[in-house]
Amino acid sequence: MRESSAMQSLPPYLFARIEKKIADAKEKGIDIINLGIGDPDQPTPGHIIEKMAEAINDSANHQYPSSAGLLQFREAVAGWYRQRFGVEVNPKSEVVSLLGSKEGIAHISFAYLDKGDINLVPDPGYPVYGVGTLLAGGVPYTVPLKEENSFLPVLEDIPADVASLAKLMFISYPNNPTGAVADLHFFEKVVEFAKTYDILVCHDGPYSEVAFDGLKVPSFLEAKGAKDIGIEFHSLSKTYNMTGWRLGWAAGNPDAIEVLGRFKSNVDSGVFQAIQYAGMAALKGPQDCVRDMQIIYQQRRDVVQAGLEKMGWQTKPPQGSLYFWVPVPKGYTAESFAELVLEKAGVIITPGNGYGEYGEGYFRIALTVSSARMVEAFERMAKAIGKVDF
Ligand SMILES: *Cc1c(COP(=O)(O)O)cnc(C)c1O
Repeated sequence: MRESSAMQSLPPYLFARIEKKIADAKEKGIDIINLGIGDPDQPTPGHIIEKMAEAINDSANHQYPSSAGLLQFREAVAGWYRQRFGVEVNPKSEVVSLLGSKEGIAHISFAYLDKGDINLVPDPGYPVYGVGTLLAGGVPYTVPLKEENSFLPVLEDIPADVASLAKLMFISYPNNPTGAVADLHFFEKVVEFAKTYDILVCHDGPYSEVAFDGLKVPSFLEAKGAKDIGIEFHSLSKTYNMTGWRLGWAAGNPDAIEVLGRFKSNVDSGVFQAIQYAGMAALKGPQDCVRDMQIIYQQRRDVVQAGLEKMGWQTKPPQGSLYFWVPVPKGYTAESFAELVLEKAGVIITPGNGYGEYGEGYFRIALTVSSARMVEAFERMAKAIGKVDF
């Protein structure tokens, strides 16, 4: 048996290595505090679960769903965009349901890239952007996100000959892993750039509702002309603690939505309808659960900020996302520091190089464990490592 060369070209899955180390430590009886996982620890709000229970008992929901998603679900998405961002999307032609946004993010490359076509991919970034590109036979072109540029891509640095060959471009704010946010002005620059070179912009926005200090981040679709040239991937996963349910959508340019929908109708058969009804309950129901979630994460963010400062870090706290992106101390690589923290303190952090070459020199802390455990993690790290040096 021979796997495809595209499969062989995939980078090693970093988290598999970390999982092995966690298993080893657990076997030794060490109490591990995992600050590595980007998966909300809070349960899905009760009213969403109740809707699911009701919908699952309706046999009409047991059959194949429509591949694009129930019109009612797409209308709920459109209503949410109107209410939250003042953005109009046509539920019939500008929204498609996804089996979690990761699915659509991976598949858009198959729908748009021919062999050798370029996708402009941010680095550090969510690994699926580049992996989907490689599996589809495309070429990911690295667009660095640097601290000195507030982790925004510098569009002028992308060579014109590369941009001319690019068919897709990914951006994502609030950003995983850097915690950076973007404003409307940046999105408008992206629209202009994409129009110049005829590129489909794919904005990945699952953290739009995870922002702190009262900040309301914009949707990419708010930018003038965004729908001419772009789509936004979104998800119920982070906003409503629904990572396991697998429900998301893409919205925006109707041609791109049609193309992605046509691709999907050939490879999957849509989202279980009961889950779509639960998603409608989430999008149309009371939103206090979202505010409660923001408060919990903000408290944890402040605990991490205090812990880092105590050990000698001078970091700016993230304004959004579930992550702190922190430089490693002098003399360490991302991986050697993560290893030190695991061995000496029993704490898992994610080495930044798992998100690309520009992630080297950083590590990521996720805000997905309780404040009490976070306090303990920093006490252990401070005791084991002491003050850090830059
Ligand atoms: C969590 C996450 C997603 C969403 O994944 P789902 O498949 O919708 O659960 C997408 N992009 C980024 C950057 C993420 O961190």
